[in-house]
Order: sequence, then structure tokens, then C-alpha cells
Amino acid sequence: MKKFLCIVAVLLSTQLAGALKVSEDIKLDFSDVLIVPKNSPFKSRNDVKVTTTIRFKYADYVWAGAPIVVSNIDTTGTIEMALALQEYKMLTCLHKFYTADDIPKNLDKNYYMVSTGTSQKDLDRLDAIVKKHDPIFICIDVANGYSQHFVEVIKRVRIKYPSKVLVGGNVVTAERTKELIHAGLDIVKVGIGSGSVCVTRLQTGIGYPQLSAVLECAKAAHEVGGLIMSDGGIVHPGDFSKAFGAGADFIMCGGMFAGHDESGGEVVEIEGKHYKIFYGMASSTAMHKYHGGVADYRSSEGKTVKVPYKGPVKNTIQNILGGIRSTMTYIGAGNIADIERCTTFIRVNAIVNKIYNGHEV
Ligand code: 5GP
Repeated sequence: MKKFLCIVAVLLSTQLAGALKVSEDIKLDFSDVLIVPKNSPFKSRNDVKVTTTIRFKYADYVWAGAPIVVSNIDTTGTIEMALALQEYKMLTCLHKFYTADDIPKNLDKNYYMVSTGTSQKDLDRLDAIVKKHDPIFICIDVANGYSQHFVEVIKRVRIKYPSKVLVGGNVVTAERTKELIHAGLDIVKVGIGSGSVCVTRLQTGIGYPQLSAVLECAKAAHEVGGLIMSDGGIVHPGDFSKAFGAGADFIMCGGMFAGHDESGGEVVEIEGKHYKIFYGMASSTAMHKYHGGVADYRSSEGKTVKVPYKGPVKNTIQNILGGIRSTMTYIGAGNIADIERCTTFIRVNAIVNKIYNGHEV
């Protein structure tokens, strides 16, 4: 009898595992959807506000600004970038290689985040920055937000800095989003494999289309009083609107901010054209720069690319904010926080007519 029950249990569990093996509902990216226009009270793009005010689950703070955050990649999350973006009330997540002494006093605390990893060395560096600058935002950044160690670090950092706005990730699932908020995060960073210089999906097979990740994680976070930051995969200004429409409270973006005067690195000339070099933080370029090479137990999960030199970042900022304002006037959203309520997506086969692609002058 005991043997029979055992066989039934094994059969059942194999069947269950089989049933859950492939989730059949289609997961979507920004390029799979468009937003439907609606009757709108706004006559001009000037009538809408790209800023909003945000409250947090743990940090007792009311933040006001445009909730767009430049990635903490070492060629985008620079002090020069933060100085330019604070003029637009946008945030920069400073890369984690800055020391307390590197951060200047004229940075507005409302518009930068400090980054940390989870090693003791990272946390000691964070401690020195907090003592010297008392920042508002701390971003605990790991590639894999599913490690138990990450959760332990969040709990420790929350106890140590109860009044800070804690951001952390990355994850892509609703359940993990809730777990990290319960551990002490105010804002969960959402996105695995969607980044412009990321090859994680190719190297590991792990990932989740970004629009669906945002839709599902935002819903989960909001149910427990937390927030999310969509991270990666923004290709066009309209993708910011789609991410806000899906429920993102903040949006982090790297690639669109690469190639500017404020981005790190030199301008290089290749066959008469000007470029800046941009690379992922898990690329072999970054690993050689900061860790003396790629350790023999791992492989590179980032690309190194040349980005056409784009001049000052203010042109890109105006292009992004102009695109978002235009979405808002099409759907009747008066400020960023209204975009989700005013958004209906439709699934599409293609988002643009490509006939003259490559013929631009
Ligand atoms: P983007 O806006 O360029 O599409 O995506 C930026 C995001 O890509 C970053 O904020 C970060 O989460 C992620 N990222 C940066 N460097 C790497 C890397 O080397 N590998 C992977 N897998 N992701 C990266």
C-alpha cells in the first residue's frame, strides 16, 4: 500500500511539473503594443506636466520630479549627467565606482541615487557616502534579484537606514517583487535581459519581455504599497509612455543616454565619424576595467558597442520629454501619474511603416 501511494505521488508530481513547464499566455514587449488615443481636454503639449509627486512605503518622504532615471552604467551614471538632468528634475543613478569624495556638494539630493552591490566592501563604501552626503535614494543593484543573499542585504540595509528610499533589483516576477518589498525595498527594479547592451538572454536563456514584466510586477507592488522602476529596453521615447502606461512608477534607461558629452569616455573617430564607446557592466570591457579580467568561473553578459556621438544630453532630454508630453495629450493624461489610468494597449503586428528605413537624410 505504502509503495502504491509513493508511485501515485511521483506520477502526480511529474504530471504537475509537466503541466507548469510552459506558460501559454503570451508575454509582450514595448514593440508588441500601441496606445489607443482618447478624448482629451488638452490643447497643447504645454498643458500637461511631466512631473509628479511620489510617496514611499518605508521612507517618510515626498519626492517631486520627472520619474526618469539614468542607469548606473559607468558611462551614463556620471556626475556630469546628474548635473545636467537635475535641471529637468530627472534622476541619475550614479555608478558604484564613485567614492564619497568624488560626489560634489552641488548635486541636488532629490535627483541622484547612490549605487551599491552586496559585498562588504560595497556596503562600507555606501556607509562612507551616507555619512558624508546623507543621500535620499540608495540603489542596491545585483544582476540576479533571486538570490537569498540579496534579500538578507536588503533587510540589513533597511534596518541600518530606515529613512532612505531603498531601490533594488533586478527581478521580473510578481511574487519576487512582493517578497523584496516585504524585505524592505520601496522601489523594485524590474527587467532581466531587456537592456541594449545585455546578452543575458543569449548566455543563460533567462528573461521576460519587458512590458509584461512591468504590467505584472507593478500590479503586485502596488497591492502591497510598493513601487517599481522599469529598467532596460527603452528604444524610442514612446517606450517611456508605454512603460508608464503599464504601471511603472519610475523608468531607468541607459542606452538612450549613451554617446553624449555628459557620458563617460572619450569621443573616438572611426572612418571619419565620431562615436563614444558604450558597454554593459557585465561586459568583458567592464570586467577588465574594474576586476582585472573575466573570472574563469563566469562569462561576459554584456556587449561593447560604438554609439554615434550625440553632443549635449539636453537635446535627448527634450526629445524624450516632448514624446511623453505628446502621448499625454493624445490620451488625456494631465500628469505622469495619470498615464496608467488613461492607457489602453492594443496588440499589434508592427508599430511602424518601414518603407523608407535607412533612407533618412
Ligand atoms: P537600456 O536602457 O540600455 O536598454 O538598459 C539599461 C539597463 O541594462 C541597465 O540599467 C542595467 O539594468 C542593464 N545592464 C547594464 N549593463 C548590463 C550588462 O552588461 N549585462 C546585462 N545583462 N544587463 C546590463
